[in-house]
Amino acid sequence: MGGTKIRCAVFGENGRMLSSYTIASRAYPEPDDNIENLIATLDRLISPYPVEHFRGIGIGLPGTVDNERGLVVYTPNLQWVNLPIAQRLKDKLGLPVSLIQDVAAAVWGEYQFGAGHGIDNLVCATIGTGIACGILINGRLYGGTNHTAGEIGHLHIADDDLVCGCGNAGCLEACASGLGLVKLFRKAVKDGGSTPLTTRMKAEDINAYAIFDAARGGDELCLSIIDQMARYLAKGLSHVATILAPELLLLSGGLSKESSLLVEPLKKYFYNYSYRSVRENVRIELASLGEDAPLVGAAFLHRADDYSKQYLSRRKMSTKNGGAKCQREDGHRT
Ligand SMILES: [Zn+2]
Repeated sequence: MGGTKIRCAVFGENGRMLSSYTIASRAYPEPDDNIENLIATLDRLISPYPVEHFRGIGIGLPGTVDNERGLVVYTPNLQWVNLPIAQRLKDKLGLPVSLIQDVAAAVWGEYQFGAGHGIDNLVCATIGTGIACGILINGRLYGGTNHTAGEIGHLHIADDDLVCGCGNAGCLEACASGLGLVKLFRKAVKDGGSTPLTTRMKAEDINAYAIFDAARGGDELCLSIIDQMARYLAKGLSHVATILAPELLLLSGGLSKESSLLVEPLKKYFYNYSYRSVRENVRIELASLGEDAPLVGAAFLHRADDYSKQYLSRRKMSTKNGGAKCQREDGHRT
Protein backbone atom coordinates (compact mmCIF):
# COMPACT_ATOMS: atom_id res chain seq x y z
CA MET A 1 0.00 0.00 0.00
CA GLY A 2 1.30 3.42 -0.84
CA GLY A 3 0.11 6.99 -0.64
CA THR A 4 -1.13 7.01 -4.23
CA LYS A 5 -1.76 3.38 -5.16
CA ILE A 6 -2.39 -0.06 -3.72
CA ARG A 7 -0.90 -2.96 -5.65
CA CYS A 8 -2.52 -6.34 -5.08
CA ALA A 9 -1.25 -9.68 -6.41
CA VAL A 10 -1.68 -13.43 -6.07
CA PHE A 11 1.55 -15.46 -5.93
CA GLY A 12 2.27 -19.14 -6.38
CA GLU A 13 4.48 -20.87 -3.84
CA ASN A 14 7.39 -20.67 -6.31
CA GLY A 15 7.25 -16.86 -6.25
CA ARG A 16 5.54 -16.45 -9.60
CA MET A 17 2.97 -13.66 -9.78
CA LEU A 18 -0.26 -15.26 -11.03
CA SER A 19 -2.42 -12.16 -11.24
CA SER A 20 -2.31 -8.56 -10.09
CA TYR A 21 -4.36 -5.40 -9.97
CA THR A 22 -3.54 -1.84 -8.96
CA ILE A 23 -6.04 0.52 -7.40
CA ALA A 24 -5.70 4.19 -6.52
CA SER A 25 -5.55 5.03 -2.85
CA ARG A 26 -5.71 8.80 -2.97
CA ALA A 27 -9.02 8.72 -4.80
CA TYR A 28 -10.57 7.28 -1.65
CA PRO A 29 -9.68 9.72 1.12
CA GLU A 30 -11.53 7.92 3.92
CA PRO A 31 -10.00 4.72 5.35
CA ASP A 32 -13.35 2.94 4.98
CA ASP A 33 -13.52 3.66 1.23
CA ASN A 34 -9.97 2.41 0.75
CA ILE A 35 -10.59 -0.75 2.74
CA GLU A 36 -13.87 -1.58 1.01
CA ASN A 37 -12.17 -1.08 -2.34
CA LEU A 38 -9.24 -3.23 -1.23
CA ILE A 39 -11.55 -6.02 -0.02
CA ALA A 40 -13.47 -6.01 -3.31
CA THR A 41 -10.23 -6.14 -5.31
CA LEU A 42 -8.73 -8.95 -3.23
CA ASP A 43 -12.00 -10.85 -3.47
CA ARG A 44 -11.83 -10.64 -7.28
CA LEU A 45 -8.21 -11.80 -7.32
CA ILE A 46 -8.82 -14.68 -4.91
CA SER A 47 -12.11 -15.93 -6.39
CA PRO A 48 -10.65 -17.98 -9.34
CA TYR A 49 -8.84 -20.25 -6.84
CA PRO A 50 -10.10 -22.52 -4.02
CA VAL A 51 -9.77 -20.42 -0.87
CA GLU A 52 -8.09 -23.27 1.04
CA HIS A 53 -5.12 -23.03 -1.33
CA PHE A 54 -4.19 -19.66 0.17
CA ARG A 55 -1.81 -19.38 3.10
CA GLY A 56 -2.98 -15.88 3.87
CA ILE A 57 -2.80 -12.23 2.98
CA GLY A 58 0.23 -10.06 3.68
CA ILE A 59 0.08 -6.27 3.56
CA GLY A 60 3.12 -3.99 3.37
CA LEU A 61 2.47 -0.41 4.52
CA PRO A 62 4.58 2.76 4.66
CA GLY A 63 4.37 3.40 8.39
CA THR A 64 4.17 1.75 11.78
CA VAL A 65 2.18 -1.45 12.11
CA ASP A 66 1.34 -3.75 15.02
CA ASN A 67 1.01 -7.20 13.48
CA GLU A 68 0.03 -8.95 16.70
CA ARG A 69 -3.01 -6.70 17.14
CA GLY A 70 -3.62 -6.37 13.38
CA LEU A 71 -3.37 -2.60 13.60
CA VAL A 72 -2.03 0.05 11.30
CA VAL A 73 -0.62 2.28 14.05
CA TYR A 74 0.25 5.23 11.84
CA THR A 75 0.82 5.88 8.14
CA PRO A 76 1.86 9.46 7.31
CA ASN A 77 0.88 9.08 3.63
CA LEU A 78 -2.59 7.66 4.17
CA GLN A 79 -3.13 9.40 7.52
CA TRP A 80 -4.40 6.22 9.17
CA VAL A 81 -4.17 6.03 12.96
CA ASN A 82 -4.79 2.82 14.97
CA LEU A 83 -6.82 1.23 12.20
CA PRO A 84 -7.78 -2.45 12.85
CA ILE A 85 -7.43 -3.44 9.21
CA ALA A 86 -6.42 -7.12 9.67
CA GLN A 87 -9.61 -8.20 11.42
CA ARG A 88 -11.80 -6.45 8.85
CA LEU A 89 -10.09 -8.23 5.97
CA LYS A 90 -10.09 -11.54 7.80
CA ASP A 91 -13.84 -11.25 8.52
CA LYS A 92 -14.70 -10.51 4.89
CA LEU A 93 -12.21 -12.76 3.07
CA GLY A 94 -11.80 -15.65 5.54
CA LEU A 95 -8.00 -15.65 5.40
CA PRO A 96 -5.35 -14.81 8.00
CA VAL A 97 -3.88 -11.34 7.52
CA SER A 98 -0.36 -10.18 8.40
CA LEU A 99 0.86 -6.58 8.40
CA ILE A 100 4.42 -5.41 7.89
CA GLN A 101 6.24 -2.15 7.24
CA ASP A 102 6.97 -1.87 3.52
CA VAL A 103 10.79 -1.68 3.80
CA ALA A 104 10.77 -4.83 5.96
CA ALA A 105 8.56 -6.48 3.33
CA ALA A 106 11.09 -5.44 0.66
CA VAL A 107 14.07 -7.03 2.43
CA TRP A 108 12.00 -10.18 3.00
CA GLY A 109 11.04 -10.27 -0.71
CA GLU A 110 14.68 -9.89 -1.79
CA TYR A 111 15.65 -12.64 0.69
CA GLN A 112 13.02 -15.03 -0.66
CA PHE A 113 13.34 -14.48 -4.41
CA GLY A 114 15.67 -11.57 -5.18
CA ALA A 115 19.29 -10.44 -5.04
CA GLY A 116 19.53 -11.33 -1.34
CA HIS A 117 18.28 -14.90 -1.76
CA GLY A 118 19.59 -17.05 1.08
CA ILE A 119 21.75 -14.24 2.61
CA ASP A 120 20.87 -14.42 6.32
CA ASN A 121 22.45 -11.09 7.35
CA LEU A 122 20.94 -8.68 4.90
CA VAL A 123 19.99 -5.01 4.72
CA CYS A 124 17.92 -3.49 1.92
CA ALA A 125 17.97 0.32 1.85
CA THR A 126 15.43 2.21 -0.21
CA ILE A 127 16.60 5.52 -1.63
CA GLY A 128 13.69 7.34 -3.15
CA THR A 129 11.51 10.21 -2.03
CA GLY A 130 12.48 9.11 1.49
CA ILE A 131 15.09 6.74 2.94
CA ALA A 132 14.61 3.66 5.13
CA CYS A 133 15.89 0.11 5.33
CA GLY A 134 14.67 -3.39 6.10
CA ILE A 135 16.90 -5.55 8.30
CA LEU A 136 17.39 -9.30 8.39
CA ILE A 137 19.55 -10.76 11.18
CA ASN A 138 20.38 -14.47 11.13
CA GLY A 139 17.56 -15.05 8.67
CA ARG A 140 14.92 -13.29 10.80
CA LEU A 141 13.30 -9.96 10.19
CA TYR A 142 14.38 -7.42 12.77
CA GLY A 143 11.81 -4.79 13.69
CA GLY A 144 13.08 -3.68 17.09
CA THR A 145 10.82 -2.10 19.67
CA ASN A 146 7.55 -1.04 18.09
CA HIS A 147 8.81 -2.13 14.63
CA THR A 148 10.70 1.12 14.12
CA ALA A 149 14.15 -0.36 13.44
CA GLY A 150 15.53 0.64 10.06
CA GLU A 151 14.28 4.24 10.01
CA ILE A 152 17.74 5.30 8.84
CA GLY A 153 16.29 8.33 7.07
CA HIS A 154 16.35 9.96 10.50
CA LEU A 155 19.99 9.27 11.35
CA HIS A 156 21.52 12.63 12.20
CA ILE A 157 24.12 12.91 9.47
CA ALA A 158 24.82 16.56 8.70
CA ASP A 159 25.55 19.67 10.74
CA ASP A 160 23.09 21.42 8.58
CA ASP A 161 19.93 23.43 8.88
CA LEU A 162 18.08 21.31 6.33
CA VAL A 163 14.85 20.42 8.10
CA CYS A 164 13.42 16.91 7.83
CA GLY A 165 9.74 15.92 7.64
CA CYS A 166 10.15 14.54 11.18
CA GLY A 167 10.91 18.04 12.52
CA ASN A 168 14.63 17.53 13.21
CA ALA A 169 17.43 19.07 11.15
CA GLY A 170 20.32 17.27 9.48
CA CYS A 171 18.57 13.90 9.04
CA LEU A 172 19.88 11.64 6.24
CA GLU A 173 16.50 11.90 4.53
CA ALA A 174 16.66 15.71 4.66
CA CYS A 175 19.90 15.82 2.67
CA ALA A 176 20.23 12.58 0.68
CA SER A 177 16.78 11.41 -0.47
CA GLY A 178 15.03 12.64 -3.61
CA LEU A 179 13.47 15.46 -1.59
CA GLY A 180 16.76 15.99 0.24
CA LEU A 181 18.60 16.52 -3.04
CA VAL A 182 16.12 19.25 -3.95
CA LYS A 183 16.79 20.84 -0.54
CA LEU A 184 20.56 20.70 -1.20
CA PHE A 185 19.94 22.30 -4.61
CA ARG A 186 17.87 25.15 -3.19
CA LYS A 187 20.44 25.79 -0.49
CA ALA A 188 23.30 25.86 -3.03
CA VAL A 189 21.41 28.36 -5.19
CA LYS A 190 20.50 30.47 -2.16
CA ASP A 191 24.18 30.49 -1.15
CA GLY A 192 25.06 32.06 -4.50
CA GLY A 193 25.62 28.99 -6.71
CA SER A 194 24.59 29.39 -10.32
CA THR A 195 23.16 26.85 -12.74
CA PRO A 196 21.31 27.10 -16.08
CA LEU A 197 18.63 24.88 -14.52
CA THR A 198 17.11 27.84 -12.65
CA THR A 199 16.49 29.69 -15.91
CA ARG A 200 15.30 26.61 -17.80
CA MET A 201 12.80 25.41 -15.20
CA LYS A 202 10.42 26.92 -12.67
CA ALA A 203 11.75 26.46 -9.13
CA GLU A 204 8.78 24.31 -8.08
CA ASP A 205 9.31 21.92 -11.03
CA ILE A 206 12.94 21.13 -10.20
CA ASN A 207 12.97 17.64 -8.71
CA ALA A 208 15.68 15.03 -8.16
CA TYR A 209 15.35 13.62 -11.68
CA ALA A 210 15.78 17.09 -13.25
CA ILE A 211 18.91 17.59 -11.12
CA PHE A 212 20.35 14.23 -12.25
CA ASP A 213 19.54 15.08 -15.90
CA ALA A 214 21.33 18.42 -15.60
CA ALA A 215 24.32 16.68 -13.98
CA ARG A 216 24.49 14.25 -16.91
CA GLY A 217 24.72 17.33 -19.15
CA GLY A 218 27.74 18.54 -17.16
CA ASP A 219 26.03 21.06 -14.82
CA GLU A 220 28.74 21.76 -12.22
CA LEU A 221 26.41 22.76 -9.38
CA CYS A 222 24.23 19.67 -9.86
CA LEU A 223 27.30 17.40 -10.07
CA SER A 224 28.62 18.86 -6.85
CA ILE A 225 25.41 18.45 -4.83
CA ILE A 226 24.93 14.87 -6.08
CA ASP A 227 28.47 14.17 -4.91
CA GLN A 228 27.49 15.64 -1.54
CA MET A 229 24.41 13.40 -1.48
CA ALA A 230 26.61 10.35 -2.21
CA ARG A 231 28.86 11.28 0.74
CA TYR A 232 25.90 11.64 3.10
CA LEU A 233 24.46 8.30 1.97
CA ALA A 234 27.84 6.60 2.35
CA LYS A 235 28.14 8.00 5.86
CA GLY A 236 24.67 6.76 6.83
CA LEU A 237 25.19 3.32 5.29
CA SER A 238 28.63 2.93 6.88
CA HIS A 239 26.96 3.48 10.27
CA VAL A 240 24.37 0.83 9.45
CA ALA A 241 27.08 -1.60 8.28
CA THR A 242 29.24 -0.96 11.37
CA ILE A 243 26.36 -1.74 13.73
CA LEU A 244 24.86 -4.71 11.89
CA ALA A 245 27.80 -6.15 9.88
CA PRO A 246 25.56 -7.47 7.09
CA GLU A 247 26.99 -9.71 4.39
CA LEU A 248 25.08 -7.81 1.74
CA LEU A 249 23.68 -4.31 1.60
CA LEU A 250 21.12 -3.92 -1.16
CA LEU A 251 20.09 -0.58 -2.64
CA SER A 252 16.60 -0.13 -4.01
CA GLY A 253 14.28 2.75 -4.85
CA GLY A 254 14.18 5.10 -7.84
CA LEU A 255 17.53 6.82 -7.20
CA SER A 256 19.47 3.55 -6.79
CA LYS A 257 19.38 3.29 -10.59
CA GLU A 258 21.70 6.33 -10.87
CA SER A 259 24.77 4.17 -11.15
CA SER A 260 27.68 6.34 -12.34
CA LEU A 261 26.55 9.59 -10.71
CA LEU A 262 25.39 8.25 -7.36
CA VAL A 263 25.98 4.56 -6.61
CA GLU A 264 29.63 4.29 -7.73
CA PRO A 265 30.74 7.42 -5.79
CA LEU A 266 28.67 6.17 -2.83
CA LYS A 267 30.62 2.88 -2.83
CA LYS A 268 33.93 4.78 -2.97
CA TYR A 269 33.00 7.01 0.00
CA PHE A 270 31.56 4.03 1.88
CA TYR A 271 34.92 2.31 1.57
CA ASN A 272 36.71 5.42 2.86
CA TYR A 273 34.35 5.91 5.81
CA SER A 274 34.03 2.29 6.97
CA TYR A 275 35.94 0.28 9.51
CA ARG A 276 38.32 -2.08 7.75
CA SER A 277 36.83 -5.40 8.89
CA VAL A 278 33.36 -4.11 8.01
CA ARG A 279 34.17 -2.86 4.51
CA GLU A 280 36.07 -6.04 3.65
CA ASN A 281 33.07 -8.22 4.46
CA VAL A 282 30.09 -6.34 3.10
CA ARG A 283 29.05 -6.16 -0.53
CA ILE A 284 26.89 -3.32 -1.84
CA GLU A 285 24.65 -4.37 -4.73
CA LEU A 286 21.42 -3.37 -6.38
CA ALA A 287 18.19 -5.04 -5.28
CA SER A 288 16.67 -7.08 -8.10
CA LEU A 289 12.91 -7.10 -7.55
CA GLY A 290 12.41 -3.36 -8.06
CA GLU A 291 9.08 -2.03 -6.91
CA ASP A 292 7.72 -5.59 -6.64
CA ALA A 293 9.96 -6.32 -3.62
CA PRO A 294 7.48 -5.24 -0.88
CA LEU A 295 4.65 -7.00 -2.71
CA VAL A 296 6.63 -10.27 -2.89
CA GLY A 297 7.82 -9.95 0.71
CA ALA A 298 4.30 -9.30 2.03
CA ALA A 299 2.93 -12.29 0.10
CA PHE A 300 5.53 -14.64 1.61
CA LEU A 301 5.27 -13.50 5.21
CA HIS A 302 4.00 -16.97 6.16
CA ARG A 303 7.63 -18.07 5.78
CA ALA A 304 8.80 -15.60 8.44
CA ASP A 305 8.70 -17.07 11.95
CA ASP A 306 7.98 -13.67 13.48
CA TYR A 307 4.87 -13.35 11.37
CA SER A 308 3.52 -16.87 11.75
CA LYS A 309 1.02 -16.32 14.56
CA GLN A 310 -1.95 -15.68 12.31
CA TYR A 311 -0.81 -18.45 10.01
CA LEU A 312 -0.69 -20.88 12.94
CA SER A 313 -4.25 -20.02 13.91
CA ARG A 314 -5.29 -20.82 10.34
CA ARG A 315 -3.48 -24.17 10.45
CA LYS A 316 -5.45 -25.16 13.54
CA MET A 317 -8.62 -24.28 11.65
CA SER A 318 -7.47 -26.36 8.66
CA THR A 319 -6.87 -29.38 10.89
CA LYS A 320 -10.44 -29.18 12.10
CA ASN A 321 -11.78 -28.99 8.56
CA GLY A 322 -9.45 -31.50 6.93
CA GLY A 323 -6.18 -32.78 8.34
CA ALA A 324 -4.84 -33.99 4.98
CA LYS A 325 -4.83 -30.46 3.58
CA CYS A 326 -2.96 -29.21 6.61
CA GLN A 327 -0.31 -31.89 6.27
CA ARG A 328 0.21 -31.02 2.63
CA GLU A 329 0.67 -27.37 3.53
CA ASP A 330 3.07 -28.26 6.32
CA GLY A 331 5.10 -30.40 3.97
CA HIS A 332 5.28 -27.49 1.57
CA ARG A 333 6.54 -25.06 4.15
CA THR A 334 10.24 -24.27 3.92
ZN1 LIG B 1 14.12 13.10 10.24
